[in-house]
Amino acid sequence: MKKIALHWQIIIALILGVLYSYLAISQGWMKFTLYYLRPFGDIFIRLLKMLAVPLVLFSIIKGVAGLSDISRIGRLGAKTFGLYVLTTVVSVTIGLGLVNLIEPGNKIDPTVKEEIRTYVETNVSQDDGFQSLQAKQDATNKIQEEYGPLFILVESVPDNIFSALTSMSKMLQVIFFAIFFGIGLLFVDKRYSDPVNKAVDGINEVILLLIQWVMRAAPFFVFCLLAGQMARLAGDNPAILSQILQAVGWYMITVILGLGIMALVFYPSLVAIFVRHIGYLGFMRKLVKAQSVAFSTSSSAATLPVTMDVVENDLGVSPQTTNFILPIGATINMDGTSMFQGITAVFLAQFFAGGMEMTDQLLMIGMATLASIGAPAVPSAGLVLLMGILASLGYQAWWVALVFPIDRILDMTRTAINVTGDAAVATLIAQSEGEFSSKKSSP
Ligand code: ASP
Repeated sequence: MKKIALHWQIIIALILGVLYSYLAISQGWMKFTLYYLRPFGDIFIRLLKMLAVPLVLFSIIKGVAGLSDISRIGRLGAKTFGLYVLTTVVSVTIGLGLVNLIEPGNKIDPTVKEEIRTYVETNVSQDDGFQSLQAKQDATNKIQEEYGPLFILVESVPDNIFSALTSMSKMLQVIFFAIFFGIGLLFVDKRYSDPVNKAVDGINEVILLLIQWVMRAAPFFVFCLLAGQMARLAGDNPAILSQILQAVGWYMITVILGLGIMALVFYPSLVAIFVRHIGYLGFMRKLVKAQSVAFSTSSSAATLPVTMDVVENDLGVSPQTTNFILPIGATINMDGTSMFQGITAVFLAQFFAGGMEMTDQLLMIGMATLASIGAPAVPSAGLVLLMGILASLGYQAWWVALVFPIDRILDMTRTAINVTGDAAVATLIAQSEGEFSSKKSSP
């Protein structure tokens, strides 16, 4: 019998996870689900995150040292950064166009609006989960206030590389160190660089092997992850969830439509135009595995090992390009998140304040792009930074409480788009640099 491809196994597991959770909620199997399935889902995320930090460190060192010529690093760096910013700006702009066209915040009956508003202000914004989001935002705000607009630069430079390695939210610092170290390796005498290069190569290979092992069990883990998440969501407060879901239905449709345009039209068309040997369908088909892992983990950092595997082994991009571009992309390129922030900010302004001025919307494009660079690639990061954006535009940060209960669903979707954007840019750059290691990617 023909073996089902891993990405299909993962998709089947996703669907089974959702079906199971319906059954579990209706049959009252909550305890079993939360105690015996959810732990395996969390173990999956931990394993991926555990491998992501060393992967970023060593693959960037390897990528930079492999470029062998400092001017190439500069050119590739500029191209990578430029394309990442460009796709992000396009994404927010599409989002803003859609939210102005659909006006989801004006589609709600004014009396219902008032009821929900009071409810959200007095209940959801006091909720523990939301408060911890607010605390994270306060911490970011503090740093921002201290350093002003250049705070991202300051935040990218670690004062202690070992402490940077202990936190997923300090990935920019790890990248900074890795690039710096890689450049140093290019300049040091061969006697010293050779053994270090060999060791870095060896460590990278072992990490990649571990990732393959973890991924073999991915379908099981994904099933547990989904089952656990849905059970937790329903357990939190099903009444609020259904009430808010009704009010924000059009908003969710707007976000999903925007993200859908990116995934089904924007990226695959770019690849079809510029990278003919992969083409529209080739790109879509190969990306499914990374998208489904992103969807189930809600973290582009946790998905990074899988995205790298797909880009290198399925799309055929050379390891050097993959090693350099993707870890940076997972950290600074979040097209889905920026689009989500644009749509959500305007929706909230429509809901709470009758709308958002055009000038504020234009500012939004710049802010959401910056947020995409600064946001850690972990669950809910986009929502935390959105609070900061709202506050700096003069709106209320607590408005975010309206979408907080349904954020997980949107987080899953935007994370899938974030990793698709990273892969698309890596593919385009590989094409322009002639960096395809094989043509096995032909559909
Ligand atoms: N979860 C997203 C990611 O890791 C970030 C966010 O939008 O919250 O890509």
